[in-house]
Amino acid sequence: MDVFKMMGRHDHEEVVFCNSPDIGLKAIIAIHDTTLGPSLGGCRFYDYASDEEALNDVLRLARGMTYKASIAGLNLGGGKAVIIGNPETDKHEYIFRAFGRYVDGLGGRYITAEDMNTTVRDMEWVRDETRHVTGISKALGGSGDPSPVTAFGVFIGMKAALLTARGRDDLSGIKVAVQGVGHVGYNLCRYLNAAGAELFVADVNEDAVERARNEFGATVLSGDEIYTFDADIFAPCAMGATLNDETIPQLKASIVAGAANNQLAKSMHGAALLKRNILYAPDYAINAGGLINVANELEGYNRERAFKQAEGIHDTLLAIFKMSKDEGIPTNEASDRLAEERIRRMAQLRGSFSPSQPRSTRRI
Ligand code: NAD
Repeated sequence: MDVFKMMGRHDHEEVVFCNSPDIGLKAIIAIHDTTLGPSLGGCRFYDYASDEEALNDVLRLARGMTYKASIAGLNLGGGKAVIIGNPETDKHEYIFRAFGRYVDGLGGRYITAEDMNTTVRDMEWVRDETRHVTGISKALGGSGDPSPVTAFGVFIGMKAALLTARGRDDLSGIKVAVQGVGHVGYNLCRYLNAAGAELFVADVNEDAVERARNEFGATVLSGDEIYTFDADIFAPCAMGATLNDETIPQLKASIVAGAANNQLAKSMHGAALLKRNILYAPDYAINAGGLINVANELEGYNRERAFKQAEGIHDTLLAIFKMSKDEGIPTNEASDRLAEERIRRMAQLRGSFSPSQPRSTRRI
């Protein structure tokens, strides 16, 4: 495995290999870009088949965080960590504390948080060793569960998409098909129901669909039916890669706006959606509420402020849709360009400012 070549592909700044055999910790921290500020991104616990697979994943995820923070207007860079191990058997206090010491050694260049297979409790162990951690419990001054803010951002973003596609942002009577009614999907349904939308849901978890049916009068769809259902909006809120060669031709919805990460199986699927005249709200732009929420912890958490900042997702999406229309490019490409442009401008601004002058105007 050629580490420098892998890092060079997308200009990653730094990769830290954490190896504590006595403790049993094997982890990788990737810092993609710190132009906008310290890198922030969750720590994933996963049993990777190989070290190369782990490195590939952490590099890809760290880069994604750079774009998400930039488009959200945050003064944060992109980073991510993976701990290599079986989440069923290998998660212990000493693993997370050892990981916390590596994070601390980076002096704030990387700030960690929860991610797949890590919990608020795990992050509290990390916090015993470093202050550079977010996503801790409310009891310890943290922000707790980010999904209500994520859901609110998706709801607000959906309105921006509706306004762009239909010239109105009133959701009453609009048919929304929500795939996955877990943490974010459930809260999204709550907002949509209050706004008078008609809800159609699918989830592999029976209890989750029952709750949506009972509380919001949602109609339950079976597995694949969610793609073919004649909805106005399709909201993927479960797993990634649901927009692919197979599903895109089946979609009847004219808008895709949901919380799931990595919705496009490949970036070319953004063009496939555009070709079908389906307005796609880029995943990392519309689901940035979770990141906005944890970023708020860095300044002393204030839930009201987090929701207020998540409102910005509306105008961010309008700007993405406008660029897509003006330049005839897919929305995912427009989003990438806007995110890159902000980083480029900030780098220029830093270059022309002396250190004694204010660094930037902060939106968070
Ligand atoms: P969750 O695990 O609470 O909910 C996911 C739901 O999807 C579950 O109810 C699960 O049963 C269901 N599901 C799984 N496979 C399915 C399938 N094949 N068909 C239908 N339903 C299926 O997760 P969450 O926190 O709600 O996150 C949902 C998505 O949003 C994920 O992709 C996550 O990465 C992304 N996201 C979440 C946040 C957040 O704040 N939680 C922030 C940004 C992005």
